[in-house]
Amino acid sequence: MAKIGWIGLGNMGAPMSTNLVKAGNEVIVWNRTKSKAQPVLDAGAAWADSPKEIGEKCDIVFTMVADGPTLLKVALGDDGALAGMSDGKILVDMSTVSAEESATVAEAAKAKGVELVRAPVTGSTALAANASLGILASGDKATYEKVLPYFEKMGKNQFYLGSGEQARIMKLCLNLMIASTMQMEAEAVVLAEKAGIETRQACDIIAGSAAGSPLTGYKAALIAGGEYAPAFSVKLMMKDLDLALAAGKQYGVPLPSTALTRQSLQSAAATGRAEKDFSVLTQCLEEQSGYKRP
Ligand code: NAP
Repeated sequence: MAKIGWIGLGNMGAPMSTNLVKAGNEVIVWNRTKSKAQPVLDAGAAWADSPKEIGEKCDIVFTMVADGPTLLKVALGDDGALAGMSDGKILVDMSTVSAEESATVAEAAKAKGVELVRAPVTGSTALAANASLGILASGDKATYEKVLPYFEKMGKNQFYLGSGEQARIMKLCLNLMIASTMQMEAEAVVLAEKAGIETRQACDIIAGSAAGSPLTGYKAALIAGGEYAPAFSVKLMMKDLDLALAAGKQYGVPLPSTALTRQSLQSAAATGRAEKDFSVLTQCLEEQSGYKRP
């Protein structure tokens, strides 16, 4: 049985790796902040002291970290996974990073005889916990097929998009829609609230309408609750929209709604909400509209 390595135990990486442990795999984990590993260690994973040790001990290494610079560090650093990996091993990155950062890692991996499967995910922490993520993959097809059984333990829908960086771009396409949907929801909800309609009722009507989506459904409680505990932070969504806008520039596609939503997220971050869930856009617009919930 292949030994599995897992680097990055944040809101997503922790439940995803736990699902691999629960499926009976031998999993070795590393995270910058060791305390966050406790739940997956309790589930049966083992601890490694560095990404390099993970690379040495494991056949397939998964990374799920915040952003591109972090991926470059945990994959390519002196103590990074590739420093410990050898010919025939597989690296699978499930973070949301740019196509350029991804290509840099793929090239360095190839030089060591290691294939990189690009596998960003779509879905919330709740979907990560119940193994219902969507997994967008690209890279060498035969290598993808080797890791597919592991994807099936973490996700409900797997998509193979091609041999290069296609998965990275498709992930950004989804997130620009997700972010803009929350901007539109904020506008609709605050208008409804100021006209005397109760917040939860407005959210539920939106979720059940033609304009509704799975996203508006599972954000309804968060928006109505008003606490905005992070499932996906403002900070990470700003990172994704920056990547989407850069891709738009590269391919010559204007993305006006994305640019506008990026500005709204900036104002959320500037008012102390960078670590809140990105659905906090509703709270920002309430503030800008002089509206206080009863
Ligand atoms: P998160 O909770 O913020 O976790 C980020 C992870 O990256 C943690 O393991 C963190 O380590 C690590 N990290 C950050 N900076 C680091 C550094 N300088 N060196 C080493 N490790 C570092 O993020 P998340 O929500 O799990 O998201 C992970 C990835 O999935 C992101 O690329 C995100 O865009 C993407 N994604 C998220 C969601 C979602 O709903 N949350 C959905 C789809 C995709 P520490 O624990 O030590 O901080």
